Amino acid sequence: MSSILIIYTGGTIGMVKDPKSGSLKPLTFENLYRYLPVLENFHYDISFHTIDPLLDSSNMHPSFWVKLATVIEEKYDHYDGFVVLHGSDTMAYTASALSFMLENLGKPVIFTGSQLPIGLVRTDARENFINAIEIAAAMQDGRPVVPEVAICFDDKLFRGNRTSKLNAENFGAFYSGNYPLLAEVGVHIRYNHAHILKPGKGKLTVHKCLDDSIAILKLFPGIHENVLRSLFSTPGLRAVIMETFGAGNAPTAAWFLESLRSAIDSGIVILNVTQCAGGAVEMGKYETSVELGRIGVIGGSDITTESAVTKLMYLLGCGFTAAETTKLLQTSLRGEMTV
Ligand code: ASP
Repeated sequence: MSSILIIYTGGTIGMVKDPKSGSLKPLTFENLYRYLPVLENFHYDISFHTIDPLLDSSNMHPSFWVKLATVIEEKYDHYDGFVVLHGSDTMAYTASALSFMLENLGKPVIFTGSQLPIGLVRTDARENFINAIEIAAAMQDGRPVVPEVAICFDDKLFRGNRTSKLNAENFGAFYSGNYPLLAEVGVHIRYNHAHILKPGKGKLTVHKCLDDSIAILKLFPGIHENVLRSLFSTPGLRAVIMETFGAGNAPTAAWFLESLRSAIDSGIVILNVTQCAGGAVEMGKYETSVELGRIGVIGGSDITTESAVTKLMYLLGCGFTAAETTKLLQTSLRGEMTV
């Protein structure tokens, strides 16, 4: 009998309408559980842990990721798998962060949430929750089928660090443009074994130093020099994720390239990721990205912005040198990018 720990962090899945204000507020786990008596029919040993305070995931913060990773670390030997109930808004960031923080993971950490609160008749919470438990508990030859950080939503299982929330309304809220589904849920749960990570070989190592001295720069036609100047002069800034056009393209104006060059010269890491939901950065493919490579902008291949943010926080927190960080940003550490 698989043993599963459900970690409740907040999000719509456990919310109800406040009769006075009409806005959504979180339920305690006991109340949430009341809506799912069917869980008692599972042949798994299920336990619960609530992280205090419950969050709307828009209030998510790296310090909370450390709390969550610590719960998994402390309970790791006692459970076969973990289900994390989390708001969908920043779920892709938390799942990406956990994938980097949990080195040598050998057990499933399955995130789920919902678009409608569990108390509503038409909710998607029930299916998502039940599927996530089934997947976290799935074993083959005595080993977990999905020993990685994944997101289970709308009958699909995605690699956590390959996923973005792309729809604020549909039950199918998540998308993974550059990596196949890890599983599809129908009458059977069909696992895509060839694309699921192998369990880590060593002992689980939990990295808890995250450095958030980073920023995202989303390019748009007409972006002003002053915007770049003020961003790059942010005190303590160590890295910038630059969301470029298409296959990693950017303006070729002298002032633009000069701003990037002087930021890089001052030690700021600039990682080039695409604004597109699918496809990869290929610096040098077009004239508009040749110079970026020359001045030392790092190509992020097909990494998502969510994954880039958390990978940088992890690498900077680990204290790697600039040269090591540059190399690791171009290396797939947890299956987060195609190299
Ligand atoms: N605002 C909610 C959250 O992310 C939305 C959701 O759970 O889907 O916490």
